[in-house]
Amino acid sequence: MTTHSTRMLILGSGPAGLSAAIYGARAGMKPILVQGIQPGGQLMTTTDVENYPGFADVIQGPWLMEQMQKQAEHVGTTLMYDTVVEVDLTRRPFRLVGDSGDIYEGDVLIIATGAQARWLGLDSEEALKGKGVSACATCDGFFYRGKNVAVIGGGNTAVEEALYLTNHSPHVTLIHRRDTLRAERILQERLFAHKNITVLWNKEVAEFVDGGGTAGLVAIDLVDTVTGEKSRLDTEGGFVAIGHHPATELFRGHLKLDADHYLCVETGSTRTSVPGVFACGDVMDKIYRQAVTAAGTGCMAALDAEKFLAEAEFELAEAAE
Ligand code: NAP
Repeated sequence: MTTHSTRMLILGSGPAGLSAAIYGARAGMKPILVQGIQPGGQLMTTTDVENYPGFADVIQGPWLMEQMQKQAEHVGTTLMYDTVVEVDLTRRPFRLVGDSGDIYEGDVLIIATGAQARWLGLDSEEALKGKGVSACATCDGFFYRGKNVAVIGGGNTAVEEALYLTNHSPHVTLIHRRDTLRAERILQERLFAHKNITVLWNKEVAEFVDGGGTAGLVAIDLVDTVTGEKSRLDTEGGFVAIGHHPATELFRGHLKLDADHYLCVETGSTRTSVPGVFACGDVMDKIYRQAVTAAGTGCMAALDAEKFLAEAEFELAEAAE
């Protein structure tokens, strides 16, 4: 068992955590970043990335994360291959315990543990991920331009994604398991008013249909939740928008979470409910969820953390005089 101590401890190695590390390292914080279960985060399971600024040609998600990781290391971040399983945020330095048994101590803590999209859990969904089935219209909608697509879900995300997809697709079908939407009234009004969107009520996805060869998704088999009637919708894109799981289990009872289990931060900052603990990326953002916004809030967290340390050290120096 080893104890690793740093001024800036970062959890999570997606764009948020690595951006915080790059800024923290360049400010002389010598950050330690604990990578977590999925080093590199959600972009490791993404292929083409066309919307991360700075790259004129299409890049690959894993390549982008490798570059961010190397950049963080080059400027002075220490990366640890470990997963934190226990936290004590009652006093500073904060004390965290890794799966390995190692202890991590940080004067400040930046949480960038991300979120995972929820999936329906069908084998055909798993088989067609990236071949017609996606959980992010903003990321992948452009690849389906000119094609008819469908969105599954009835919350704000599903409705926003359906509206967004009309920018690229001649027709969008929203598939919802009930006969009322959970989304805000104003979004519902926009959805119902859109001539290129059809809503299929009381329908659940039974299977995503593979066209074979390189065709990918060609249809979605549906079952009516009221009558049990089966039907098929021809479509080349299926966007699953049934919510996300932010990785906040570890912080339950230690930090303030909202009703959807996201970490609460003060508006306009990355400050959580415990002074000295900051959150960035998808673990605190249920609206934008983009690599570039995660990187942006990662930068904010490092700057907020630096300011916090500078103020705390100034107060200590004043008290000592
Ligand atoms: P959500 O509000 O939890 O909605 C999930 C939707 O998926 C629900 O309609 C649910 O159906 C459906 N669903 C869940 N499991 C399903 C399954 N197994 N099969 C079929 N359908 C299923 O999730 P969200 O839309 O991602 O939003 C999450 C949070 O972020 C919410 O608080 C939301 O307000 C917020 N958000 C805000 C904005 C914004 O302010 N612009 C944008 C996006 C998200 P039921 O309705 O039948 O339960």
